Amino acid sequence: MASIVGSESAVHDGMERALRLFSEFIQVVPVGVADKGLEEARSWYDQKGFHFRYYQVYTYGHRDLVSGYERMLLEITKSGLSVHVASTVTDIAPQDAGFRVTALSRGDEMCFHAQRVILACGRYGHVFVARLGKVLGLRTEANHCDIGVRLEFPTSVWPDIDRHHGDLKLLFGNARTFCVCKDGRLAPYKLGGVLLMEGRSGIDSQSGFTNLAVLVRLGNGNHGRNGALFEELATRLKRETGGVPIRQRLGDFLARMPSLPSASDEPTTMPLWKWGSIAQCFAPAEAAGIREALVSFVTRLLPENACKTVSLFAPEIDHLGDKFVLQQSFESTRPGIHIIGDCTGHFRGILQAFSSGIECARNVAGAADVR
Ligand SMILES: Cc1cc2nc3c(=O)[nH]c(=O)nc-3n(C[C@H](O)[C@H](O)[C@H](O)COP(=O)(O)OP(=O)(O)OC[C@H]3O[C@@H](n4cnc5c(N)ncnc54)[C@H](O)[C@@H]3O)c2cc1C
Repeated sequence: MASIVGSESAVHDGMERALRLFSEFIQVVPVGVADKGLEEARSWYDQKGFHFRYYQVYTYGHRDLVSGYERMLLEITKSGLSVHVASTVTDIAPQDAGFRVTALSRGDEMCFHAQRVILACGRYGHVFVARLGKVLGLRTEANHCDIGVRLEFPTSVWPDIDRHHGDLKLLFGNARTFCVCKDGRLAPYKLGGVLLMEGRSGIDSQSGFTNLAVLVRLGNGNHGRNGALFEELATRLKRETGGVPIRQRLGDFLARMPSLPSASDEPTTMPLWKWGSIAQCFAPAEAAGIREALVSFVTRLLPENACKTVSLFAPEIDHLGDKFVLQQSFESTRPGIHIIGDCTGHFRGILQAFSSGIECARNVAGAADVR
C-alpha cells in the first residue's frame, strides 16, 4: 500500500482513519498487548530461524460484521445514492468523456454512464478485472503469488500461540505464516469451480481448534502468470478430489504417504474435504517448496507428539492477478478508472480494502465532505 499512497506513515494514518470509521459500525476488539515481551519473542523466534513481525490485530463477531455492513448500506442509501445489490457488472467501455457500465440485475440488462468508475471486485472478480484491464489498456506489473497449506490442530497443541501476537507472523526463507485463527474455524469459499479456504476466528467463536496457513511466496518474475497458476491448481484439484480441498495427516505427510480414510472419527471444522496427498494439488516444483517450508515449520515449532493431531488442508492461494499501476488516488493508468481493495493486487484484508476505498473517495470527492 505504501507504494501507492506514498509512505508508511500515510498508510498508518489511512489505516487509523479506516479503523475509526469501521468501528462506528462494527465493534472491533484488539487482540494481544502491543510491546509486551516483543523483544523476548523476537529473539526466541530468531534463535529458531524465524523472523517475527508484529502488528496490532483486531477481531470482531461475525454477526456484528453482517449487521454492521447492513447499517453501512443503509447510511449510503440514506445519503441519496442508489445501490443495486445482486447485480453483476458485465462490461465497462469508454463512451463520450466517460464510461458506459453494463450490468445484469435479476436477468435484466442495465446501462449507466459514469465519468469515473471505482472497481472493487475483490478476489471473486479477478478474472473480470484482468479482462477489463486488458481491454482498457490498464498498466500492470508482475505480482508475487502466495500458495500453500492450512494446518489445523486442537488448540491444546499450541495453547499460547497468541502470547505475543494475535496473528503470529513468522517469515522464514520464502515462506510465511498467515492468518492464525486460535479457536477458529476453516472458512471455505468457492472460486473458479473449486472450494478453497481461509481461516476465521472471532469473539463469537470458540471451536477448540486452531488453524493457520503456511504459504510460500512465488517470485514475481512471471508477468501475467498468477491467473494461469490458479487455473492449473483448480484443474489439479478437480482431477484429484472433484474440486474440494485435500486433507492429509501431518504424520502421513512427513512419511510421504497419502492419507487414507480411517474408521475413527477425526474431527475438523472444515465441512468438505477428501483424504489424499496435499502435494497432488501443486506442480512438482511448488510442492517441493511447500514441503520444505512445512517441514521446517512443524519440526521447529510444534511438539513432537503433535503429528497425530495435526491435519493439513490444501490448497490455499492468495494474489490471483497482477498488480495494477495506481496513483495515490487509486486511479489506474487510464484516467477515470480507479481500483481499490483486493483486486488492486497490492494487498489483502478487510481494513486494507476499507482504507483504500476511503483514500480513493477522499481524492475523488475532495477531502471536504468525506470523513
Ligand atoms: C473465507 C474468507 C475469510 C476471510 N477472513 C478475513 C478476516 O478475518 N480478516 C480480514 O482482514 N480479511 C479476511 N479475508 C479477506 C477479506 O475478505 C478481503 O481482503 C476483503 O473482503 C477485500 O475486500 P474487497 O472489497 O476488495 O473485496 P470483497 O470483499 O471480495 O468484495 C468484492 C465484491 O464484489 C463482487 N463482485 C465481483 N465481481 C463483480 C462484478 N463483475 N459485478 C458486481 N460485483 C462483483 C463480489 O461478489 C464481492 O461481493 C477473508 C477472505 C475469505 C475468502
